[in-house]
Amino acid sequence: MTPEYQKLLKITDVTAKKLAKLHLNTPWEVALHLPLRYEDETHITPIADAPVGVPCQVEGVVLHQEVQFKPRKQLIVQIQDGSGSVLFLRFIHFYASHQKQMAVGKRIRAVGEIKHGFFGDEMIHPKIRDAENSGLAESLTPVYPTVNGLNQPTLRRVVQTALESIPLHDTLPDELLGRLKLPHLAESLRLLHAPPPEYTIRQLSDGTLPAWQRLKFDELLAQQLSMRLARQKRIGGHAKSLHGTGALADKLLNALPFALTRAQGRVLAEIRADMAQTFPMHRLLQGDVGSGKTIVAALSALTAIEAGYQVAVMAPTEILAEQHYLKFQQWLEPLGLNVAWLSGSLRKKAKDAAKAALSDGLTPIAVGTHALFQDDVQFQNLGLVIVDEQHRFGVAQRLALKNKGEDVHQLMMSATPIPRTLAMSFFADLDVSVIDELPPNRTPVKTRLVNSLRRAEVEGFVLNTCRKGQQVYWVCPLIEESETLQLQTATETLAQLQTALPELEIGLVHGRMKAAEKAEVMAEFSAGRLNVLVATTVIEVGVDVPNASLMVIEHAERMGLAQLHQLRGRVGRGAAASACVLLFAEPLSELAKARLKVIYEHTDGFEIARQDLNIRGPGEFLGARQSGVPMLRFANLEEDLHLLEAARDIAPRLIDERPDIVEAHLGRWLASREQYLGA
Ligand code: ADP
Ligand code: MG
Repeated sequence: MTPEYQKLLKITDVTAKKLAKLHLNTPWEVALHLPLRYEDETHITPIADAPVGVPCQVEGVVLHQEVQFKPRKQLIVQIQDGSGSVLFLRFIHFYASHQKQMAVGKRIRAVGEIKHGFFGDEMIHPKIRDAENSGLAESLTPVYPTVNGLNQPTLRRVVQTALESIPLHDTLPDELLGRLKLPHLAESLRLLHAPPPEYTIRQLSDGTLPAWQRLKFDELLAQQLSMRLARQKRIGGHAKSLHGTGALADKLLNALPFALTRAQGRVLAEIRADMAQTFPMHRLLQGDVGSGKTIVAALSALTAIEAGYQVAVMAPTEILAEQHYLKFQQWLEPLGLNVAWLSGSLRKKAKDAAKAALSDGLTPIAVGTHALFQDDVQFQNLGLVIVDEQHRFGVAQRLALKNKGEDVHQLMMSATPIPRTLAMSFFADLDVSVIDELPPNRTPVKTRLVNSLRRAEVEGFVLNTCRKGQQVYWVCPLIEESETLQLQTATETLAQLQTALPELEIGLVHGRMKAAEKAEVMAEFSAGRLNVLVATTVIEVGVDVPNASLMVIEHAERMGLAQLHQLRGRVGRGAAASACVLLFAEPLSELAKARLKVIYEHTDGFEIARQDLNIRGPGEFLGARQSGVPMLRFANLEEDLHLLEAARDIAPRLIDERPDIVEAHLGRWLASREQYLGA
């Protein structure tokens, strides 16, 4: 925080540092730091009537106080009120000052939740106030999100100072507010930070209060404005117009053992039209697992290469990047094109050679992980960046890509459909092409939920499948806490299957293996020399072996829906009837039950993504977890759809007619968050 702001808010350096941890660096950000919840200290509940498990305030005279040492050191205080009832107050952390404050005979107030304790009804660590010298609160008490060492009274004081010291006049026109039935900003902020006595906790908590609606609308509007401005900036920017001759692409098409589907042809035309423009393409190629996005990417890359430019193809994991590398090599080398490979695990010498070939322009295309976008990688004339599974990259990586690729065309690919609300908000500056048709001769995948106690039956099923000449994936349970444990489990699974099914060739691929070792095992499996591939979830995305017709997933209850859908999509790519066996272990949490039900009932990726959003919210989809910065603090895309729609409708008009309003609004809302909203 700047010294001027500190002075304005009357705070010390220490407090300013704490506020910075909450991402509060300007008085506006402080004013927009809204309470998490409220406490009611406006009235006193007789102990006899006090509900159990609900926060309340009681008042009484201290009857008894003692420090006990068993089972651990604690302070026990007994109070009694006018109703004659007694209540125990228990403190595990306390100081001498607490003992003094609650000396026998003192009248005190306690705020907390009553529980049925060992001695009788008790409150653990209630908030204590001296009842003789302090009056009742006049309004509900806000409780803010905070960090260690920054207490609620300080936060309240800083917030109130912020509200008094900044101009709170409305930036939005009255006509608009009237139409949307939204109150003024000043009024809304004052109400939420210090609600008048007539409001109840319930009214303030469910987000439907007009004051909350106003803040949610402002937040959504800021997002819409910044997305639209980003789009305008892009369209006003420059990129090389890439017109391919078609020479290379036609050669590849002729060499393929299949013809493009109608949907693939259509999206390819959309991508080519974008690349011919003089401003950067920003297009998402969306298609369910197995819909054939890779060939579309390769043909798009050829268009750029025909036009004399370089292409970078980036994937989120090493194994997926490598699959792409092998595919691109297989397709492009016969056309006389060199494909470079860049990943984190590459030896320095090989990496230097690849980098030199790219900076000299000798190599027209590079495939790799985010190592492709490290500062020391220079392209001679990069024209197109293709990013697979874009949403799996962290925000920092997306920003790096964005900075490197200001003036290049970008093609993103994803099998996870963007729900409508996200397409309207976070992804508003993305043009979308959808492959809505699977290649012919795909067989639907039968999904079975099987209790892991019946593992032997599943092993029998594996044997039958392999005897028919087909192949099997066996996915090991996900162990998030420890990679070592994960590896151990994978090795045990391999040993167990080898013992149970001695006539089969079984291979193992896991995250700790060197890239070359992984590639070798994958190649063995692709060539059909392994019947079964035991894998940790590294095979999650992109792997493509059409002869594999059975997928077994252990501890499926631990996995997310998108992951399960991706995994299941690895089978059903050939002519044989395919199945996916989801092994689960009891007991199942409600969340796990809900997920397994969805994956069992649905095969359509779009529907699964929609249900997923319902179950867990959009955070993970956006990569918000990695960034640590909440993208939307107040609004909820599903619940506040009407506000999102209103913001989307009004944003273009404000940009055209009222640039002053746009600037003021974004200044208040986006000071330090702007870069994240567009990433
Ligand atoms: P995804 O969209 O999940 O990335 P892939 O690009 O890996 O899917 O394609 C899945 C499989 O379908 C690959 O084996 C690919 O060669 C094959 N494929 C792609 N397009 C067609 C098509 N038009 N006809 C037949 N097979 C196709
Ligand atoms: Mg793919």
